[in-house]
Formats: sequence, structure tokens, C-alpha cells
Amino acid sequence: MSADCLFCKISRKEIPAKLVYEDDEVFAFEDINPQSPTHILICPRKHFASLSEATPADQSLIGKMQLVAAQLASEKKLTGGYRTIFNTGKGAGQTVFHLHLHLLGGRDFRWPPG
Ligand code: AMP
Ligand code: ZN
Repeated sequence: MSADCLFCKISRKEIPAKLVYEDDEVFAFEDINPQSPTHILICPRKHFASLSEATPADQSLIGKMQLVAAQLASEKKLTGGYRTIFNTGKGAGQTVFHLHLHLLGGRDFRWPPG
């Protein structure tokens, strides 16, 4: 846990968020500035600044985040497809430095991403 971290505060329910999933290891909530009709952030309760800080000990936790995303995509009926994205570092567009997996769906996406 990190005292000043926005997503740690959401994990501790010190800041409100529209939670869509939670358990002991992972929580997920709606993005405040959605980039698609469905835009959910899946986070570990453990604080990591980014994927760069993860170690082999975190392998199952990182995998679980992807499987929670797939479960939420199924619940949201994103049958046309969806994206799961880790932005890692400022150059990749990361703005909140608590690891989070974006789940985007409900519209078509271009490739390559911007
Ligand atoms: P990134 O740019 O990959 O670090 O993603 C950070 C995401 O967090 C952005 O999509 C923001 O819209 C989202 N965000 C920032 N503050 C909040 C908040 N208080 N509640 C929900 N989502 C947030
Ligand atoms: Zn944090």
C-alpha cells in the first residue's frame, strides 16, 4: 500500500469509484474518463508503480488480472471484441502509477494504436 496513491485509496474505499469486481487480490472499477462505451480498470491490491516493477513472484497475480478482464468482458457481452492494455511509463501514456489493466470495449478499434 502507498499512502498517497490514488488507486490504493480507491482500494481502501477512501475515494469513491464504481466498483464492478473485487476480491482479496484484485479490484476493478469504471474509468472516470471512458475512452469507449465499456472502460474498466483492473488493479492489484498490492501497489506496483507499473508492470516494470512486477517480478516472477507476481506471475499468477498478473495473469489473474487478465482473466478478471475476460470475465468482465463476458459479463458485459463484449462479443464484438475488446482490448486489454497496460500503459507502462510516461511515453506509453501512463498517468497513474499504480499498476492497472485497461479493459476497453463496445466499439471498433484501430491498429496500430496511437
Ligand atoms: P493510464 O493513463 O494508463 O495511467 O490510465 C489512468 C486511467 O485512470 C485514466 O484512463 C483515467 O481516466 C483514470 N482515472 C484517473 N482518476 C480516476 C478516478 N478517480 N477514478 C476512475 N478512474 C480514474
Ligand atoms: Zn497504489
